[in-house]
Amino acid sequence: MLLTHGALAVVTIFLVTLATHMLINEHFLNYIHELQSEEHLKIVKEFTEFYRDGKWNREQISKSGQEMLAKGYLITLTDSQGQTLWSPQQIDPQTYRQTLEQIQARAGVYFKTVKPSLITKEYPLKSPDNLSIGKLTISYYDTYFLNEHDILFLNSLNKSLLVIAGISFLMVLLFSTRISETMGRQLGAIVEAAKEIASRRQSFRDKLIDTKISEIKELAYAIKQLEEDLREQEESNKRLTADIAHELRTPLATLQSHLEALIEGIWEPTRERLISCHEEILRMTSLVNDLEKLNKYDTGQIELNKVKFDLSSLVNNIITNFQRDFYKKKIALTFSGQPCEIIADREKIGQVVVNLLTNSLKYTPEGGEVFINVFQRGGLSHIVVNDNGIGIAKKDLPYIFDRLYRADASRARSTGGAGIGLAIVKAIVEAHQGKIQVTSEVGKGTEVIVTIPNR
Ligand code: ADP
Repeated sequence: MLLTHGALAVVTIFLVTLATHMLINEHFLNYIHELQSEEHLKIVKEFTEFYRDGKWNREQISKSGQEMLAKGYLITLTDSQGQTLWSPQQIDPQTYRQTLEQIQARAGVYFKTVKPSLITKEYPLKSPDNLSIGKLTISYYDTYFLNEHDILFLNSLNKSLLVIAGISFLMVLLFSTRISETMGRQLGAIVEAAKEIASRRQSFRDKLIDTKISEIKELAYAIKQLEEDLREQEESNKRLTADIAHELRTPLATLQSHLEALIEGIWEPTRERLISCHEEILRMTSLVNDLEKLNKYDTGQIELNKVKFDLSSLVNNIITNFQRDFYKKKIALTFSGQPCEIIADREKIGQVVVNLLTNSLKYTPEGGEVFINVFQRGGLSHIVVNDNGIGIAKKDLPYIFDRLYRADASRARSTGGAGIGLAIVKAIVEAHQGKIQVTSEVGKGTEVIVTIPNR
């Protein structure tokens, strides 16, 4: 991490410094070229004036040519026939070489590393009556015209740039080292924690979340969540096993004592006693069946076989099957439903209705009333089951959807099931992206509202 950060930072700093350096230089040279254009016009004008009455004044040309050389301009003048009237080579070779070396030396003061380049411009010369009288070629080194101030300014600017680059590099190095160290340490701690959690050696320590780096914080939260889910699942599994053991113990104990009494001859094997034993076996079989059912619905991945059907007709059919049981228990069962077309898993929604009606039947005493209402509102189908039965205590309400949970009141009653019905209802409803809501009061009754999207 440190290496990538560092390398990236160095490259960036280098590129930014180089770009700034080049921009400043270009800006300065542009400025010099502009100044030169004006200067060249003056030179052209001066040399044009050396042409009078169809003749060139060679003396003046040579004088000015030498003056221009001293100023850093290499001037070549040709007449209209292309014959050279003046070029710097015309002065004595030694002086010419020396002057040129001086010009080049000065031009190279600023750009020490780059050979100064010669710029050449050509200007046609015209007489006042607009006739072509020749051509003036001006050659110069642009950096020659940087004055001392300019060079000083540019040099100090470049030095500042170097200092800034140096400081930036040091800072990047410092911060990169610190950040990669911190991140490395924190990530290492989280990896260690994840390993410990996986091997159940330790639970998640909240201090791992105490970081300023948001991504690491999120990772720490995710692992904490994972650990909590894992723990919850483990606890739920433990609870389930304990509950199953508890549920099996009672019928097994009864069976054991009955059979022992029969074997030891304390009891006569009468029909009633055998029926009692058979009932205990039936109770265990029913528990095993329920567990099997729960396993089918509780894996978290219920497969829905969605079809279009009328919910009211489905509920009505189920009620028909229940009518005898309700009648036997003298409970009035009232159904009101409007046509409700929905797209859902018909069989599983049927299971929901069966479980809710079973509960109302189980937990409503003789002479009670049960209402079931089916309707649609705002894209949702509602199934409302209302009874005036024994009700559920406030303390039990949060747990009635847990597997094998039975409220004390129903536990005491022989009618109570294994505590699986509502867990199945919840799993099916949630698989349909629906909701279930239970309100209840002990001694007054219970209302269960199931809502599922129409499609
Ligand atoms: P069970 O098989 O025991 O009925 P459920 O999961 O269907 O299991 O219900 C869990 C518990 O919620 C029941 O044991 C009972 O205590 C309570 N319960 C559910 N429905 C009702 C109801 N309509 N009236 C009173 N108590 C209810």
